[in-house]
Amino acid sequence: MINLKKFEVWFVTGSQYLYGEETLKQVAQHSQIISDVLSKSSQIPVSIVFKPTVKTPDEIYNVFIDANSSKNCIGIIAWMHTFSPAKMWIGGLKILQKPLLHLHTQFNRDIPWSEIDMDFMNLNQSAHGDREFGFMMSRMRMNRKVIVGFWQDEKVIEDINGWCRAAAGWQDWQGAKFVRFGDNMRQVAVTEGDKVEAEIKFGYSVNTHGVGDLVKVINEASDSAIDKLIKEYEEQYKISDLLKKGNKNYSSLREAARIEIGLKNFLENGNFKGFTDTFEDLHGLAQLPGIAAQRLMAAGYGFAAEGDWKTAALVRAMKVMGSGLPGGNSFMEDYTYHFDFNNELVLGAHMLEICESIADGKPSCEIHPLGIGGKADPVRLVFNSGAGPAINASIVDMGNRFRLLVNEVVAVAPIHALPKLPVARVLWKPYPDMQTGCAAWILAGGAHHTCYSQNLTAEHLQSFAEMAGVEFVLIGKNTDIYQFRNELKWNDVYYQINR
Ligand code: MN
Repeated sequence: MINLKKFEVWFVTGSQYLYGEETLKQVAQHSQIISDVLSKSSQIPVSIVFKPTVKTPDEIYNVFIDANSSKNCIGIIAWMHTFSPAKMWIGGLKILQKPLLHLHTQFNRDIPWSEIDMDFMNLNQSAHGDREFGFMMSRMRMNRKVIVGFWQDEKVIEDINGWCRAAAGWQDWQGAKFVRFGDNMRQVAVTEGDKVEAEIKFGYSVNTHGVGDLVKVINEASDSAIDKLIKEYEEQYKISDLLKKGNKNYSSLREAARIEIGLKNFLENGNFKGFTDTFEDLHGLAQLPGIAAQRLMAAGYGFAAEGDWKTAALVRAMKVMGSGLPGGNSFMEDYTYHFDFNNELVLGAHMLEICESIADGKPSCEIHPLGIGGKADPVRLVFNSGAGPAINASIVDMGNRFRLLVNEVVAVAPIHALPKLPVARVLWKPYPDMQTGCAAWILAGGAHHTCYSQNLTAEHLQSFAEMAGVEFVLIGKNTDIYQFRNELKWNDVYYQINR
């Protein structure tokens, strides 16, 4: 699990000197209380750090300079307890490089009907103070999240939680390194993209290593390390008979373990947060990494197959965002359909590499032939995935911009046994319905590769896209195909103008 507590969100309250010392003291006390409660809330996975009230352009500028240069600060929660004239904020907002959440709240939940006087009114004026602040951010065309409501309200805290998770995923991408073994799968379009633009826009870099560099590290794995890992396999999975010691394919299991150890060492030594490989470039590898990719994903690494670095990076970001929540995130591919009009379903899977974080029950560790790649049969984990709400997310390179596309789906329990299917799989129904959901995905140019998430929602991803400043397109319960087509056209115009 990736620890999110090391990440800090700074709680910054705006005011001005107009109100006098007594009022400012109360403002500071109140914001300290709110930030403490949020920080201690079990719903908030990151640390919320109180910052002294800002009352002048210099104070605002300085706290944002500090935020920009802090390695742990992943974002700002801003709140105007009183009125804070927003021209004071221009200089600071202009240089702010961290995501901002505008919390439109009030220290008092209720109006104290019998007590209320002008002192109360002067102190509790976020109803208009936050409007002044909101204007400036809109005037400056800044992306931000606005959350409205009483700060102890469960829904408000849950929304803050969601935003903090998106900010953690975003921070994790800054300076992140992903390694691409080999290049793209030959002739495939949607997994390609502009790595230079991605590094500018998203903050992570993707660089290649010849698969030989990896093979060298794999070959250094010791017999004792392989023994140890096989013991771990035996504890965690049902090992198929063929793979058991003394049986025909035991050597394949050892080879798979060797690959996992080598890959893990390679990623650790290079400080990589994820990787992609391709079955078209496996020189020196005995098998296509199956169980290795599955288990490294479960350990928090980003992965996607066939050179798909965009999805590998997205899988990593979503694992960070979902860290600690029940359910998992996995590389996924829309594989095949069940077109029974009464029960339409998508079967999602991949040749091998589905993350066990989405497994329902104990995976079985099996070996089967792989029709492509011309290598030895690969070892993989086979399992079903549970029912419940989920999303599929995909980043595509539209040439002049990146588009983050999300489809809300509902996963269903397996309706039949699949005794001959040798891979992990999920069954789901896309929203709003099969026809509209699939048509919209195709019209939006969504990839066949996605990150499938059981614990994130479209809202996490929308916040994330806004932090990145990229297009966000949702296919959900309310998607209407006529409006959707218009949205895509209008977005095209918007992104032509807004370059
Ligand atoms: Mn694929």
